Parts: sequence; structure tokens; C-alpha cells
Amino acid sequence: MKLEDLDRALLWHPFTPMAEWMADAPLIIDRAEGNELIATDGRRYLDGVSSLWLNVHGHRHPHIDAAITAQLGRVAHTTLLGLASTPSILLAEKLLAVAPPGLARVFYSDSGSTAVEVALKMAFQYQQLRGQQGRTKFLALDGAYHGDTIGAVSVGGIDTFHRIFHPLLFHTLHVPPDADALGRAIAEHGHELCAVIVEPLVQGAAGIRLMPPGFLRAASEACRAAGILLIADEVATGFGRTGTMFACEQESVTPDLMAVAKGLSGGYLPIAATLATEAVFSRFVGDRLTFFHGHSFGGNPLGCAAALASLEVFGREQTLERLPAKVAALRAHLTAKVAPLPHVFEIRQKGMMVGIELRRDRMTMYDDDSDAIGARACRFARDHGVILRPLGPVVVLMPPLSITVEEIDRLVSAAAAAIAQATASPPASAPVAIPPEQRRRRGLFIVGTDTGVGKTTVAAALLRRARRQGLSPVPWKPVETGCTPDAADALRLRAAAGRDDLTVEEVCPYRFALPVAPALAANVPLTLTGMVAHLRAVESKGDFLVVESAGGLLSPYASGLTSADLAAAVGLPVLLVARNALGTINHTALALAEIRRRGLPLAGVILVDTDGKATPDRAHNARLIEELTGVRPLAALPFVEGASPDALADHLPTSLVGSLVG
Ligand SMILES: *Cc1c(COP(=O)(O)O)cnc(C)c1O
Repeated sequence: MKLEDLDRALLWHPFTPMAEWMADAPLIIDRAEGNELIATDGRRYLDGVSSLWLNVHGHRHPHIDAAITAQLGRVAHTTLLGLASTPSILLAEKLLAVAPPGLARVFYSDSGSTAVEVALKMAFQYQQLRGQQGRTKFLALDGAYHGDTIGAVSVGGIDTFHRIFHPLLFHTLHVPPDADALGRAIAEHGHELCAVIVEPLVQGAAGIRLMPPGFLRAASEACRAAGILLIADEVATGFGRTGTMFACEQESVTPDLMAVAKGLSGGYLPIAATLATEAVFSRFVGDRLTFFHGHSFGGNPLGCAAALASLEVFGREQTLERLPAKVAALRAHLTAKVAPLPHVFEIRQKGMMVGIELRRDRMTMYDDDSDAIGARACRFARDHGVILRPLGPVVVLMPPLSITVEEIDRLVSAAAAAIAQATASPPASAPVAIPPEQRRRRGLFIVGTDTGVGKTTVAAALLRRARRQGLSPVPWKPVETGCTPDAADALRLRAAAGRDDLTVEEVCPYRFALPVAPALAANVPLTLTGMVAHLRAVESKGDFLVVESAGGLLSPYASGLTSADLAAAVGLPVLLVARNALGTINHTALALAEIRRRGLPLAGVILVDTDGKATPDRAHNARLIEELTGVRPLAALPFVEGASPDALADHLPTSLVGSLVG
């Protein structure tokens, strides 16, 4: 199998709607140079979000590469449980030298989430150790993001990410980022709070939201006065991202605990740290006192060596000193190229962190699920040679600090062009056929309003028509039930397509004897991944794919898995087949409503006369369906004795065949 097929068949990607992922060809990165990523096909892309906010000095930086190689020549990993290691000691010294004054101890872990988790547990135990048993709660800000482990999620405040896990979380107080609101919460609940956690100056995952100036300073003073610890989560803001080494510096704040990760190793290796003041640390020093926490890879020597080298690069290349000119160039390009675009609601910038919020108009937001406006813009940016990743309707730019002024121009020009494209084309929620040039593969996904409505008949007719037009059609039917013992429908499709070279297994991988819904008939567990993997294996054997799904749109293949889910994963335009008979108006309207709700691209509706009886409704069904749903059926196929694919192919509308087959 090709790499891209293996990825779709085997990987589970983070923060990713996998049905959509599997329907698309993944961009596979093979290597990188400086601020550019290079894909397996050799195309180069500017790394516009620093490989998810990590990279600082560019990729393959010779000094960092050499430091890692040198460390590898000594040892890759040794533990900090019961042993010390050279690079972890040297890094602690260097890190504390650049950290806000007063931070005096370094506790290593391996990701931003673990660094936060460590800070939360340290704060909790610290209050217990100083006899403040009632201080068991945390206060966090609305819109906060502190990572994905359960403690970090408990202090998070982003509904989309965190809502589902609510029953698992510990109770946390939340206030808006406003000094008065924080003051009131502390006045009321201060006695039960062990710590307040904040992202200093900028809330990253909330959509690059800038905190009111002075808020961090005010929070720090309010906490100190009330005996509450302040935890600064500098995981995103640290290492120059906001213009200074740490964001806390800009308001002269030394937090009691500070979490760092992403940029610590220059974005090279998974290493993180929680820094503590001497006042916090000294509480843990005493008879049989232990902080019960540690990760296998905490303080990994390779990571420490990379981090040490990255901090050295700050000095060698005057990274922070050269930053203001780049920040100004970024601002100027944004003002000139992005701000004038009609759907740009707001541009938020702090140093090298930028959020461009898109809105339908000043009053209305885009719909997160159906418009996916940020994702669409980032997708277009790839065509302009730039990798971006959105946060909902916010397009994020977060380039490596090593980006050049010329590359800043390239980055912002690409973002502007991509935003213009995404906001100009209609949103995915409108039931329009995907224009041929945007379709990855040619073909149709056929679903029915019910079983026995003529799906196989339509599929066979389409395959025959494609064949006649000189294409090499591929029929595919994920499941056939009622096989006694042959898969009669699959054989019919194969014959109509003239593809005797395909095996029955290729045309229909799952065949069961019981004539019931696949979920009941299946004697092996049917999974979306399994079905899609079978499809991927056969789709390249031709140039026009016709998928005939089993039963109706919501017929179950397995618990929670229907034809509609498969359609989303496959990503082809959906052709809805309905029986031209009494009841079809209701069935068709319901199916169309569900297709719209799921944002599936609709190719059209076809009505089929399945019995040749002359009932008075048949001539009027198409018009009534159009009146009710706004979708005019593409055709009403007549009853054809024996359902000969040749005879039916002649009745297919030229519009459908022309645009999708021809
Ligand atoms: C990314 C991030 C985290 C989590 O870091 P991971 O390394 O992804 O676990 C925590 N806090 C903030 C502010 C972040 O941006």
C-alpha cells in the first residue's frame, strides 16, 4: 500500500475529524530546511504555524542538530529518578538564568500538558503542606487552554474541546480575564483557592485572544495578597513568541510556578519543565517529604541537549534583538493585505502570534461545523505554498522566530489570498454539487431513501453509461446481505461495468447470507476504517467510482455507523435514489434534510419506477419534492422489464452524466 493509504488505514490523528481525514489525501512531510517543510512529492511549504507553535529557530538548525548528535554519542536517555544527568543540570542553570527573577527550581516532564499537570499538583500539595487544607480549588479564565490531560482539561475553558469530558473533571472556578471579576472571585472564594492559572498576555487556543494590559500584573498582586499561588502557563507564549523571552516579563511578574514546553527545545524534542520559586520549593524540603510525581521520560537528555542549544542560539543569533523589525513587518503586511478583506472581522497580534478572525459579517459568525471557514482558508493556503492551521473561524499565523522579512511577505500574501478564496466561495452547508475541479476522485456515492428503491438499478445504469463513454468504471458495494450464496447485486454491478477483471471480493468485501440490515447480518464486526481500507485498495483500478451503499441512508452497518457516515468518509458527491411511489415525498424530504444536516455534498435525486404500475401520484412526485425541498429530482426513470442496464443508461439525464461521467 502507498504511504497515504496506510496513513488513512492505520493512523488516528489528534484533534482531527477522522471521517473527513480519511476522505482526503494526506499531505505527508518528509523533511524540512530552515522555515520550510518539504513533502514526499518534493513540494516546499512555509511552516506558517511553526509545526503547531513549536519551532523557534527553523528546522535542521546546525547548532541544535549538532548538539543532539553529540548527546546521542553519549546516551539517549537516563532517568532523573534516583540519578542525575549532565544535560539536565546544564539546562536548568541556563533556563533559570533567562526566566523571570525569583524562579529557582526546575522540574522536568515531557509536554505542555504534563508541565501544567505538575504545576497544579505542586500548588495543591504546597497548600496542604503549609496547613491550608481548605484550599483545594483552582481558578482559571474563560477560554483557557492548558492541555489535554484530565487535570489540564479541568482548568480549561474551551467548550468545544472540554464539554464532553465534563463528568471526569474536578471543579474549577472560571472568571473572564478582567481584573475586577478576578478580584470579586478572590474576595468571595479566596479561602478555598490554592492557585490561579493563566496564559500570560495571550490566550492561544481560545483564538489568539489578547489579555487586557495590566491584567497579569493585577492578577499577580491579587493572588499574593490572598495567599494564592499564581501559575503562569507559558507553554505557548514562552521563548520569544510574544516579543520577549517570556510574556511575564512584559508586566514584570514572577509567577510562583511557570510551565514551559513547546519552544523549550526550539520545537525539536518533547521536553517540558515546571519552574518554581524557592518559597514554593522549600515547603517540600523536610522530613520524609516527597512530591509524588514523575514521568518516565522526564528530563530526557536528548531533549535537554536540544533545549540548551536552542537557548544558546538566542544569544548567538541575537534572536530577540532582531525580532522587533520582524514583528513590525508582520503588522504592516497584515494591515495592508489582510485587514481590507471583507470577511476579516479582527486581526489580533502579539509579537509573532497572530489570529485573524473571520465573520460572515460584523454581526454574524460563521457556523463552525458546516462552514468550517478557518479550515477551508488553511486548505487554500496550501495551494499558495504555506502550511496553516486554524482555530475555528480564526486563521492563526505563528511563524518561527527565524522567519525572514521576505518570508513574512510570502506568509501574509498567501494567507490573504487563501482567506479571499475561502470567503468568496459558498459554504459547504449549501446542497450544491462539488465542482469537478475540487473533486479529488470522480464518482458518485449512491444512497437510497429505503431498501428496494432501485439503487442497484441506478448504479448499474451509471456504470454502463460510464463504460460507453470510454471510462473504466469501478463498482463498489461495501456490504451485501441476502447472499444465497452469490452476491447477486455485486455481480450485476460488475457485469454492468464490464469489469470481469475485478474479483467479487474487490467489488463487495463483506457478503452475508441473512437478508437483513448489515448490522444484524454481519458475523464480523464492520468498521468504517475497515470498509474505507477495502475501498482504497480498489478505487485506483479505474477512473470512475460508483459506490452503492447498503439499504437506506441511515441503515446501520454497525452500532453508530450508517451509510451517511460512510458517505462522509468516502467524500464523493451523494446521489439519492428514491422509489417513485406513494410516500416518496416524505422519504425524500427526510433524507435530504439529513444529507444537509451532515453537510454531505449532494449530486442530486433520482426517482425510480420499481413496478411499472400506473398510480396517479407518479407524474407529480418530482414537482412536489422540488416545492418542498428546493431540490428538483434530476430524473424519473421508467420501469424497465428485467432492469437492463443498457435500456436504463439511456434514461439517465445528460446533465448528471455530462458533468459527472463525461
Ligand atoms: C499547547 C499548550 C499546552 C499543551 O501542551 P502539549 O505539549 O500539547 O501537551 C498547554 N498550555 C498552552 C497554553 C498551550 O498552548
